[in-house]
Amino acid sequence: MEYAGAGEEEVMAWEHWAGNGEAFGTGRGEWRLTVQHGDSVELHVTDFVVLCIGRFSGASNMPRFPPDKGPEAFAGTAIHSMEYANMGAASATQLVKAKLVTVVGYQKSAVDIAAEIADANGASHPCTIVLRKKRWIVPDLYAWGVPIAVFFITRFSQLLLHKPGNGLILSLVATLLSPLRWFFSKFVESYYKWALPMEKHDMVPDEGFLEGMCSCSVTKLPHKFYDKVEEGSIVLKKAKRFSFCKEGLIIEGDSSSETIKSDVVIFATGFNGDQKIREMFKSPLFRDIVAGSPSGIVPHFRQCIHPRIPQLAIIGYAESWSNLCLSELLSKWLAHLLHGSFRLPSIREMEEDIAEWDKYMKRYAPDRFRRSCVGPVSVLCTDRICQDIAGVQRRRKRWLLADWFVPYGPADYADLNLNSCKL
Ligand SMILES: Cc1cc2nc3c(=O)[nH]c(=O)nc-3n(C[C@H](O)[C@H](O)[C@H](O)COP(=O)(O)OP(=O)(O)OC[C@H]3O[C@@H](n4cnc5c(N)ncnc54)[C@H](O)[C@@H]3O)c2cc1C
Repeated sequence: MEYAGAGEEEVMAWEHWAGNGEAFGTGRGEWRLTVQHGDSVELHVTDFVVLCIGRFSGASNMPRFPPDKGPEAFAGTAIHSMEYANMGAASATQLVKAKLVTVVGYQKSAVDIAAEIADANGASHPCTIVLRKKRWIVPDLYAWGVPIAVFFITRFSQLLLHKPGNGLILSLVATLLSPLRWFFSKFVESYYKWALPMEKHDMVPDEGFLEGMCSCSVTKLPHKFYDKVEEGSIVLKKAKRFSFCKEGLIIEGDSSSETIKSDVVIFATGFNGDQKIREMFKSPLFRDIVAGSPSGIVPHFRQCIHPRIPQLAIIGYAESWSNLCLSELLSKWLAHLLHGSFRLPSIREMEEDIAEWDKYMKRYAPDRFRRSCVGPVSVLCTDRICQDIAGVQRRRKRWLLADWFVPYGPADYADLNLNSCKL
């Protein structure tokens, strides 16, 4: 993709996105897309591009190894979870049936794959999960009978956080209410520690539940996961580092190392969405800035507009308690922008807003701030979407108490359409 009509120097000097803060800019700029399909190459010209190429698909994130200590040293098969998923059920079953399989990683792909393999192989060929960091992976989203959304996804629960753009008073309120924030987190943790044999298997995460929520790394356990751990069909191994040898993996703990014999190693180590999005651009400058730098958050205003890349929106890069719901809301916001219902603020204002989000994400998700997780402040996020579209922030629940204390969900935004942001 290449932007034409204005040079990079001019684009970087603009005060307003696309020259005037409107979706199609001043009319001078356009995107030229080179589309290749097999041997045929086509050139398309367009006034606006929406990138929906996915952050959690397509490009695998693979750990790096010293020479001769990577998969090349291994006599078995090493693949990424993406290849395993693309294989189809029959070939995947054939690959793992009656084999010693090791899964690297401990998020949704890892636990799902391990549970599937444990079901197929049982305790005679245990599936080993090699994990670096323990996470809150839980059977359901209820703690002592209360939906956990009550503690983390309400207008009231947002008051407990130092949110982006908080003034002095709201900051003070968040500080004063911090014991309640701590209590909510501990209340939920106490339930999962009681409901699951996490302590027995040394699987209680070092981070609090709130931090897990703020980095969108709380995920759902497959059915009877810990039963499989108890019966020995899944083995959990913590490792600071690991490398390959001919027989499998060598994992390094605090004081010793151990060889995990394996026929197949599956990397459930996530995706490299940043690389995929950078590769879309011909301009080295846009490649460089589109996903930001490792020391900051992904710098997208309203989670979808890069202030310095004109006439382009990116949907599907931010995370929430439901990525699909967030993507749909951002799509509606974008439809309004394209429709001309509002203009974007100046580039300086957008960058200041991003700096506020940077502070928030680093404060509550210090080791995973680049995940662009808005989960516990999703009500704020949507309030701002409404503010942009309708010029006002309106509560989206009929009753005041419900608006403050009942969790927000997709149904609350069902009527957020081109005409209104009101109830
Ligand atoms: C294990 C796992 C579990 C998940 N569970 C949930 C969940 O429960 N709820 C939830 O909301 N989200 C979940 N997610 C996140 C989920 O992947 C996203 O919410 C959703 O798939 C995003 O949709 P998308 O259309 O943005 O991207 P994708 O579904 O990744 O689609 C991207 C599309 O773009 C195409 N594409 C990529 N590059 C190019 C290119 N250069 N040119 C043309 N086309 C291209 C791809 O082929 C693909 O069709 C999960 C993700 C994983 C990995």
